[in-house]
Amino acid sequence: MRKTDRTKRPAPGSRKPARDNQAQCAKCVPAKCCMYFSIEVDKPLKESDFDDFLWMIAHRDVEFYTKRRKWYLMVKTPCRFYEPARGCIIYPSRPRICRLHHADECEFDEAYDFDLHFHSYEELERYTRKRFHG
Ligand code: SF4
Ligand code: SF4
Repeated sequence: MRKTDRTKRPAPGSRKPARDNQAQCAKCVPAKCCMYFSIEVDKPLKESDFDDFLWMIAHRDVEFYTKRRKWYLMVKTPCRFYEPARGCIIYPSRPRICRLHHADECEFDEAYDFDLHFHSYEELERYTRKRFHG
């Protein structure tokens, strides 16, 4: 585990959003940026590395993607502190990553700009087989 892909900034759907993202966040329900997290992982090189990734993606709601030659593990699970009607219920004490997240760089109206995206065990397994066994 290395670092997060993106830095999250706040107020997802909150009643007290940051000045610059108030309108956008108010429209974003449920808040996209509170529905998952992702972390950069070491780039897999050997078949055994991919085998380890297969173990991870065998778990529910785990995906992998690549962006600008880096690999990320994504866990699609909502933050337990997000409520659709109230937004972030720990807004004043939300974690640093949330405080730093910029709505002007967020996923609100943009398609994810991934190079590769593995949604399932089967997708990653196919890719691995093709890569190492043609
Ligand atoms: S994804 Fe963007 S618009 Fe939506 S709540 Fe998060 S920061 Fe706001
Ligand atoms: S603590 Fe959870 S609900 Fe609050 S901003 Fe961060 S991810 Fe969203």
